[in-house]
Amino acid sequence: MSLFGNGLRRICAVAAAGTAAEMSKLVRVALRQTSTVELRLDWLASDAERARFLRWLGKRRLRNATFLATCRRREGGGKFAGGVDRQLYWLTQAREAGCQWCDLEVETLRKLPGQSVREYPVPPRILLSVHDFERTPDLPSRMDPPAHGAVDAVKIAAEARTIQDSVRLLRLARNSRNFVAVPMGEAGLPARILALREGSALAYAPVAAATAPGQVSLDEMKHLYRAHALSRRTRVYGVIGDPIGHSLSPLLHNTGYLARRLDAVFLPFLVRQLADFLSAVPEFGIRGFSVTLPHKQTILKHLRECEPLAADIGAVNTVVVRRDGSLYGCNTDYLGVLRALEKKLPIKGSRALLFGAGGAARAAAFALSRAGANVAICARREKAAKELARAVGGEVLPRRALRTESFDAILNATPVGMHPHGGISPLASGELHCRIVMDLIYRPQRTQLLKLAAQKGIAAVSGVEMFLAQGFAQWRIWTQKRPPEASMRRAVLAALRAEENSRPRYP
Ligand code: NAP
Repeated sequence: MSLFGNGLRRICAVAAAGTAAEMSKLVRVALRQTSTVELRLDWLASDAERARFLRWLGKRRLRNATFLATCRRREGGGKFAGGVDRQLYWLTQAREAGCQWCDLEVETLRKLPGQSVREYPVPPRILLSVHDFERTPDLPSRMDPPAHGAVDAVKIAAEARTIQDSVRLLRLARNSRNFVAVPMGEAGLPARILALREGSALAYAPVAAATAPGQVSLDEMKHLYRAHALSRRTRVYGVIGDPIGHSLSPLLHNTGYLARRLDAVFLPFLVRQLADFLSAVPEFGIRGFSVTLPHKQTILKHLRECEPLAADIGAVNTVVVRRDGSLYGCNTDYLGVLRALEKKLPIKGSRALLFGAGGAARAAAFALSRAGANVAICARREKAAKELARAVGGEVLPRRALRTESFDAILNATPVGMHPHGGISPLASGELHCRIVMDLIYRPQRTQLLKLAAQKGIAAVSGVEMFLAQGFAQWRIWTQKRPPEASMRRAVLAALRAEENSRPRYP
């Protein structure tokens, strides 16, 4: 059993706020989700706020909870402006208010006589913390608390510049006793979620929504990733890309695992160098991953085998890791386009215009032409348009032709109109002569292009339909089961709605 208990108790909520009132609110929210809470006393704006908060805490006598008091000085990367004496004073007050644990940074311990805090009336259990906000330093093969008992547990929080950095920290967690591993930064996020299964005594998560890349909110840690329930048997999947922070794939896939009660987790990997990620695949036990920009083409040369259609498209968005570790690639974007369109239009024999000639346009062009559509390409670079048209046996149209030509469907495969430039449309109203307009963009869901289409009475299809359909297909490939589409769709649409409601409206 971990020092902090089992299961959910190992998810440590972080309460950090400037005032006692906000802090006590965070503690109340935290205790609805877990019983282990770190109190960042150094975040409180003044001594008066610290005193007020600890008075509040002391009166509550929350006996089932484990509180870890932290009053980190600036030297150790915290916000507390006082010296070691004042820091120890506040930790002493924290003990009186009911805190059983305190976090003491190594910079403070080094300043104490005998490098021990045991003579001070601070909380009885001590977590010695070492921070490196720049990099992951060289690490020993194991790190147990020293035998003389000066501290009860050791924490290393280090910036993971690469996925390999985070792997090194996880290895240390696996080999050590009473150890807390905190890989920081966005590249470290998957390891942060997997830390508990690797033996870390705690995984930290802020109570309020995550505010920095690489953080996972308490709610996500518990409900989306179920970090406390992951084991070596859990099947690990993920999405790789750069940037990756706003990907909805973890929500889509994890919602599906939950609904079907599968022991699986889907993580977002910030991947700058493919080799950095690929060498971590066996370490994490990854069974499959989704590929997004900028790796959809470059992943091809790392595959043992590739679905012929994906090879023709020249892009892979889905990879299966086989038992022998080799990679098989396929493309579900093309299925996504078909599923999204075929509900509204018989594709065989139709005439479809693709605006744009990049990666998504290629998947759409192959999908439509293989399904029997006559494909026309219009792109700002004629050379790219010609190449794609040749590859799918389609025609190239110059932009001016759009004023007069008619189509069954027009698809926007450029990023024009995507958040935060949601107010603009890639095509003018006078260029929309068709029955259906599909925008591959899904942020926002209702783009300016789709609004123009609706004004002309043209049926509109959002890119979210393609996103969902390509994701359902991936889910089926990896799990060999039918995806719970309704729950997955509900979760993604709700997240997009929440996102749109939280940002200013476009004119
Ligand atoms: P990409 O490979 O970079 O291709 C973008 C295409 O848009 C290129 O042809 C580019 O032309 C063109 N373009 C860019 N800015 C333009 C402008 N101002 N005017 C005219 N053309 C412009 O990107 P992609 O992967 O194909 O993605 C395209 C869009 O599809 C993105 O919005 C993406 O979010 C969306 N998408 C959606 C899904 C989904 O599941 N719904 C899946 C994949 C992609 P140049 O070559 O001249 O730059």
